[in-house]
Amino acid sequence: MRLVDAHCHLHAEELAGVIESALERARSRGCTGWITCAVTAEDWEAAERFAASHPGVFAAAGIHPWYGRTEDLPRLERLPEVLSRGMVAVGECGLDTRIADPPMETQLPLFRRQVAIAREMGLPLNLHCRGAWAELLAVFRREPPPDPPGILHNFNGSVEAAAPFLDYGFCLSFGGVITRRNSRKLAAVLRRAWPDHVMLETDAPDLPPVEAPEKPNLPENICYVARAAAELLEESPETVAEQTARNAVRVFRLRLP
Ligand SMILES: [Zn+2]
Repeated sequence: MRLVDAHCHLHAEELAGVIESALERARSRGCTGWITCAVTAEDWEAAERFAASHPGVFAAAGIHPWYGRTEDLPRLERLPEVLSRGMVAVGECGLDTRIADPPMETQLPLFRRQVAIAREMGLPLNLHCRGAWAELLAVFRREPPPDPPGILHNFNGSVEAAAPFLDYGFCLSFGGVITRRNSRKLAAVLRRAWPDHVMLETDAPDLPPVEAPEKPNLPENICYVARAAAELLEESPETVAEQTARNAVRVFRLRLP
């Protein structure tokens, strides 16, 4: 079984001290690739260093919509150089209408600039979106996404919400939420995106699966996400693991060890 975790934060402070043994257990369960996403400009080099010292871990850099400030806009001018040192995606970035601070007028210029950088660099996006489907699509009409466009991480929308993103060629990445197995909406969207537009993720240290609810969530728990996706798709876990790993390798151009 070969698995790739398309969205996690393995270099996060909360995982220091447990991450080395957790990565070993993830490897023993078949996981061979991880995309560790930085969330602030201060975090970019930490993700880069972690990836450089852990085989199979690749870094992505961006500014998460929760943490962006107006003064981050000039900081983004440094992003292309950081990305050019072997990073595989721009992210975690995106839009979130469910938080009041930072407001949309702060989030939007930061996100637009990151989309433009992704396109100029030819790197896919690793996107966060909560309640902002229309806002994302409005940005893409002015700032077209890169090719391939990338993923919507922890996808939690309907088939109708997914449709325009699938038309752009985005993949949908599913995580701990699908282990609840109680959402007909998610089952339907998973089947709609299967086989070529589905990826799996842990979002470790966040969003633990029901089988291992303790925090922090650990990368080894990707196997529960694969099992839940396999049940919902009525496929074998091996088939789901292999297909989603292949999608991650294709979109993020990963060279797995
Ligand atoms: Zn995340």
